[in-house]
Amino acid sequence: MMLRKPLRYDFGALVPYIDEETMYEHYDKHYKKYTDNFNKALEEINQGYNRNLIQILKDYSNITEIRNNGGGYYNHLLYFDNISPFGNTYNTASLEIKTLIDNNFGSFENFVKNFKTAGSKVFGSGWVWLILHNNKLKIATTKNQDNPIMSLNCTILLGMDVWEHAYYLKHKSDRASYIDDFFDIIDWKVVSNRL
Ligand code: MN
Repeated sequence: MMLRKPLRYDFGALVPYIDEETMYEHYDKHYKKYTDNFNKALEEINQGYNRNLIQILKDYSNITEIRNNGGGYYNHLLYFDNISPFGNTYNTASLEIKTLIDNNFGSFENFVKNFKTAGSKVFGSGWVWLILHNNKLKIATTKNQDNPIMSLNCTILLGMDVWEHAYYLKHKSDRASYIDDFFDIIDWKVVSNRL
């Protein structure tokens, strides 16, 4: 069965950017629920658990339970890993990804601006992504628990959850301040390794 990826840090490790209670609720409740429901949905369609996760999401995203819960499973796996309290400066990014960001967005500052703007424009619940598609870096957004790989052959480098459950306890309705804080806890080593 699909298991949650263990958190590499304590729930309180991202303070002051994300509070302990949010991390507990998000990882131990929301992510767990998506995982449990994804496993149930996989059982219902008799899908062997040994199949590749990405292929399952590509092949069965027309089934609502798989789309929502499989997406929720994969998206949170990516999210909790691409944030961390470890060396969060852009200096830790690989030269390869820095070069791609400069070539595709003009500068790191411009990338940050565009990513933040994309985050502010997601209406309701959804995600903002940095993806590699046809050898180009792009910013993508999805609704609900959709993931770009459901409809695109691409590599996910970074995911930002903009569901209210990701920030409401601390940031209340101020999504922009959560997004600012998110940029202080991106683990650029993890992002670089996904390339
Ligand atoms: Mn979430």
